[in-house]
Amino acid sequence: MTVNNNIAEKKQAPSIVFENVSLTYDAIPLFDRLCLEIEGGRCTCILGPSGCGKSTLLKMISGSPDTPYQGQIVLGAAEKSATCAWMSQKDLLLPWLTVLENVLLGARLRGEVDDVLKEKAGSLLVEAGLDNYSSSLPAVLSGGMRQRVALLRTLMENRPVLLMDEPFSALDALTRLKLQNLSATMTRGKTVILVTHDPLEALRLGDTIIVLAGNPARVDTSLCPKGSAPRDANDEIFIRDYPVLLSRLLDAEKL
Ligand code: ADP
Ligand code: MG
Repeated sequence: MTVNNNIAEKKQAPSIVFENVSLTYDAIPLFDRLCLEIEGGRCTCILGPSGCGKSTLLKMISGSPDTPYQGQIVLGAAEKSATCAWMSQKDLLLPWLTVLENVLLGARLRGEVDDVLKEKAGSLLVEAGLDNYSSSLPAVLSGGMRQRVALLRTLMENRPVLLMDEPFSALDALTRLKLQNLSATMTRGKTVILVTHDPLEALRLGDTIIVLAGNPARVDTSLCPKGSAPRDANDEIFIRDYPVLLSRLLDAEKL
């Protein structure tokens, strides 16, 4: 799903700043004067206990109408001046469109589908192992295949800001590695916020890793692992930083 479609592919990758952002659902404060700066052009991974507000955080940035927050969320120089592509935790595929049509959905809605975009979508489907399904409807796909289609649809948008909500959660280990690599390559230099429940995934992909915790949620931990993503399995980070991150997550569960 895209936000602010009218602004075409901006090249800059803005930072995102939360200034005293508060949000209350059903009289329970989910965020209370949250201040947070997300660096532009980098991948920030967000971890935290289930229900702490990770998906809501992405929705607030995207401008979703069901997140009536107070305070300010500033993208780059001017509030909401940049565009985001948002990959929801649910795949939100349109059941009456084929896999290829779903991947091209944004361009289709804007009346921009052409041979170049069709070719790009076709080659992404090959990379994601879905080329034999390009004419299939979503109903015949497994959960992992549907998630890959949703991921490709998001990557096709080529927006400066990508909000990705557990984008690899339904994939088997090898497909996950492959799609993480594809995603990291295609989003390099963009502002990516990737919500995940997997600390290893965060260490593999994140330039910055944030643990959200508490009630209301706040930034409990922030790490900037060394080296550039995607990190391979031999990277010393998995020995050095994984135990630290895991213990922070276990502590966050208790808050
Ligand atoms: P997470 O992604 O960290 O698991 P969410 O951001 O989805 O958590 O939800 C955080 C909390 O806000 C949960 O308790 C959830 O039930 C509640 N919540 C989310 N969206 C809404 C909504 N539209 N209306 C009311 N409560 C909501
Ligand atoms: Mg969520």
